[in-house]
Amino acid sequence: MIAGSDALLHGWITDHALLMQVQTWKGWFFALATGALLFGLLYRLFRQDAGLLQRYAEQRSDVHMLNQFRESVIDNASIWINVLDSSAKVMLWNKAAEQISGYSRDEVVGRSDIWEHLYPDSDYRQSVVAKVNEILAKGVEVENLETRIRCRDGQQKIIDWSSRRFFDQKKELGSIAIGRDVTEHKQMQQMLRARDRQLAILMANVPGMVYRRRCNTEWTLRFVSSGCLGLTGYAADDLVENRSMSYASLVHPEDRERVQHETHHALRENQAFALEYRIRHRNGQHRWVWEQGRAVQAEDGPHLEGIIVNITDRKRMERQLEQLAVQDPLTGLRNRRELEMALQEAVERAEHERKPLSLLWIDIDDFKQINDVHGHLAGDEVLRQVSRMIRDHLRTNDLAARFGGDEIVMVLPGMDAVAATRIAETLQQAMQSMPLKLPSGEAVGITLSIGVAAVPEHVATAEQLAEAADRAMYRAKECGRNQICNALPFPPPPQHTAPHETREPS
Ligand code: GH3
Ligand code: MG
Repeated sequence: MIAGSDALLHGWITDHALLMQVQTWKGWFFALATGALLFGLLYRLFRQDAGLLQRYAEQRSDVHMLNQFRESVIDNASIWINVLDSSAKVMLWNKAAEQISGYSRDEVVGRSDIWEHLYPDSDYRQSVVAKVNEILAKGVEVENLETRIRCRDGQQKIIDWSSRRFFDQKKELGSIAIGRDVTEHKQMQQMLRARDRQLAILMANVPGMVYRRRCNTEWTLRFVSSGCLGLTGYAADDLVENRSMSYASLVHPEDRERVQHETHHALRENQAFALEYRIRHRNGQHRWVWEQGRAVQAEDGPHLEGIIVNITDRKRMERQLEQLAVQDPLTGLRNRRELEMALQEAVERAEHERKPLSLLWIDIDDFKQINDVHGHLAGDEVLRQVSRMIRDHLRTNDLAARFGGDEIVMVLPGMDAVAATRIAETLQQAMQSMPLKLPSGEAVGITLSIGVAAVPEHVATAEQLAEAADRAMYRAKECGRNQICNALPFPPPPQHTAPHETREPS
């Protein structure tokens, strides 16, 4: 190009000095153009390299960030992650692995003997390895394989493993394992199982039955302990979810409404409750039960939970004790203490209702003689038979009590002295027409002396009534026994000096 331009200049310019000058300028021009071209080329190359370098730096930073992120995820994961190479050397051992096992990554990475520490028992270790290999040989991942490791501090832990191998173009590079420390979970499970067992034993041995039931009209049982059979005669399966019958159908009809009401109240107030009621046992007999429970709000609605115990024996005993407390043991009539209380109430009621009330004071004539002639047991028998006869003449609201010895008192609410006297006559006639049979087989005839007193006819208070009737009875004795005497007004009016009998002794 330079030679071509020289020839061209030689052709155009004939003046030698001018030619030299032009050639000098051309030389400078070429040098400058070449320099500019080179500069342009170099600058372009530089720009391209700078872009490449920046992209490379960006990529490196991305890779670095990704690695950091991966390491931080792996490291900060709460689960144990370890990676082994194809020769079983540890390549990665995350923080959780360090924390759970107690072995740091410096002690572990690059080595393959960690498993000997974690599984010191060689038989156990081999069984774990065999199991893992067996699973991996099938080409599937190890899942939920539980092993027991010994940590650095000697503590035993249960790890739940998942593991898989990883490959690069079918060449095995190693394996990755993920372990969850399930020691606490397992301990909790064991504890819960043990507690369940204890609870089952406890419930089977609880007297009566433990239950959980709905608050519906059938009292649908959701759960009952095995004591159900002994208490009701029905197996738990018969009653739970009303399979054969509802528990409510076993409750005595007279008690059902009361129990329903009480339990609903407890539910409303969120209170505990205790109830006594009767249920029908499978054998048809009624049993008294005591139920103690409380309301609980479950996800599927309100429920009642508690215990039901058989208290039939206690109830029977209570009834017997109650009867003993109010009854005369020989005759079965009420005793004196009960008479005094009942008479007080009966007089108050009569006064309140403005109705009459009469009292018969009955004493067996010459009773001592029966004892003397036939013996004390014969006397007892006479007392029993006289009492039975009197009891047979009682109306629903009447009351008969043994005051003591051979004295029996009848309280007759609603009766005035005339009506009561008729009752007294009936008793005397019954006695006369019925000779009493003694244990020896002998028969004895006895008579009764009876005093009659009434409120408000003769007296006003219970004490006065008893005293007036007793006095009237003594007057009947004085009049020859086997008599009925009515009381005198009590206290006697001062102007009357002579006793006034409403009925002459018969
Ligand atoms: P009276 O006609 O005057 O009533 O004569 P009585 O012999 O019945 O005399 P009284 O009523 O005073 O005597 C009651 C007797 O009853 C006295 C006592 O020996 C006897 N007695 C009291 N309690 C019992 C008892 O539980 N069993 C027996 N067999 N006798 C009793
Ligand atoms: Mg007597």
